[in-house]
Amino acid sequence: MKADSAHKTAEASARAAILADVEAYCEELRPLEELCYLERRFNPDIQRLALKHNLLGMPLPVDLGGRGADYVTYARALARIGREGTGVRTFFSGQTSIGQYPILRYGNRQQQERYLPRSAAGELVMAFGLTEPDAGSNPLEMTTTYRRDGDRYLLNGVKYLISNGSIADVVVGFGYPADKSGPQRRMSAFIIETAGDTFVREELHSKPGMYTANTGMFEMVDHPVPVENLLGGEGNGFRIAMGTLVSGRLSVAAGCLGVIEDCLAEALNYSRTRSQHGKLIGKHQLVQEHLAEIEMARVASEALVLKAAEAKAASDADRDNAERAAAADIQVAQAKFFATNAAWQAADRAVQVFGGRGWSELYRVGRHLQDVRVCRIYEGTDEILKLKIAASLLGREFNAFS
Ligand SMILES: Cc1cc2nc3c(=O)[nH]c(=O)nc-3n(C[C@H](O)[C@H](O)[C@H](O)COP(=O)(O)OP(=O)(O)OC[C@H]3O[C@@H](n4cnc5c(N)ncnc54)[C@H](O)[C@@H]3O)c2cc1C
Repeated sequence: MKADSAHKTAEASARAAILADVEAYCEELRPLEELCYLERRFNPDIQRLALKHNLLGMPLPVDLGGRGADYVTYARALARIGREGTGVRTFFSGQTSIGQYPILRYGNRQQQERYLPRSAAGELVMAFGLTEPDAGSNPLEMTTTYRRDGDRYLLNGVKYLISNGSIADVVVGFGYPADKSGPQRRMSAFIIETAGDTFVREELHSKPGMYTANTGMFEMVDHPVPVENLLGGEGNGFRIAMGTLVSGRLSVAAGCLGVIEDCLAEALNYSRTRSQHGKLIGKHQLVQEHLAEIEMARVASEALVLKAAEAKAASDADRDNAERAAAADIQVAQAKFFATNAAWQAADRAVQVFGGRGWSELYRVGRHLQDVRVCRIYEGTDEILKLKIAASLLGREFNAFS
């Protein structure tokens, strides 16, 4: 009994320590992030300070170099990070939720030990490469291929719109066997090291926001991957991709909760200090309506994000339980769909509260508005998530696409 309570106390203090480190990270990062944003350039301090505060592998087990954060703690951490901007949070999603996660969840011990401690120690930037120019909402339409060549695979194809894509040292990437007549025609997942001239990368600029985070594309031309870097067995790529997206969607939903929190804080502050028509704008009832709506977006998003985090934790704790996996899949989709739309609307309302100043990158609310829009697109668009949620109600035979 005593041991049990000591264990719980230790867990609670580990959780508190992670969140305290996240807070310190965010405070130190904020002025540096603002400067990079205004200068529209990549912010290397997102990663440098994350290493300083030991945040590059929050949910990884301690014996693999991480902090052992449970899903709820990690969601709270990402919500706090999301307040600093969707670009900052997107780096973490790429590194941890969709970069490290598939290796932790589907990798063997050798793969985990080779990549995860180094990624938590800041030696490896991670990414997840599923999307291609002609395969977005339907990754089954991808054209990247692999073929066996002795003790390695050779990969060919282009991956597009990848978070951390042109700075990653390691990408969990996907492709089909080149020999379509072979027995194994389903896609496979690989742990791809990006060094070498067979991996050609390019940063994507022309983004209306998220200037401080990296979005890239890359082409692989007979790019060699050792056979031991096949992830989760041949032909299991689609299952790994879909499983990883659940983790990624949760991270997006949590980040959007943070965006709403920050928009609320900023709008409240401005409403208490800006006067028009002889009184503080917070005393105008139509301004109060914006604040009340943002607050309700916050409350509802927080409830959905935490419920989804608990469902994901329950599913990961009981890996063979298909019912729990399905519940986590849907609850995460619901949280992502709701929180991303709520964040977009909250940012829009906060900009309205700020008036003309709000429509500017000089103010946090204006930056949130332009950054957060992408959250309704990546890791599953609004439309794909709605179809998923509806099919879960109607039954499999109502799936809008196969
Ligand atoms: C900044 C950024 C970062 C990203 N990071 C990553 C990453 O790290 N890794 C990665 O693999 N990908 C990443 N992506 C890609 C992202 O996941 C895709 O953009 C997304 O899945 C949508 O694919 P698409 O852009 O090809 O749009 P499309 O799939 O072409 O969709 C276009 C429109 O058609 C709709 N549509 C498509 N199919 C259907 C259907 N069956 N029913 C109804 N509507 C449909 C879509 O909802 C959308 O509105 C990123 C994208 C961005 C913009």
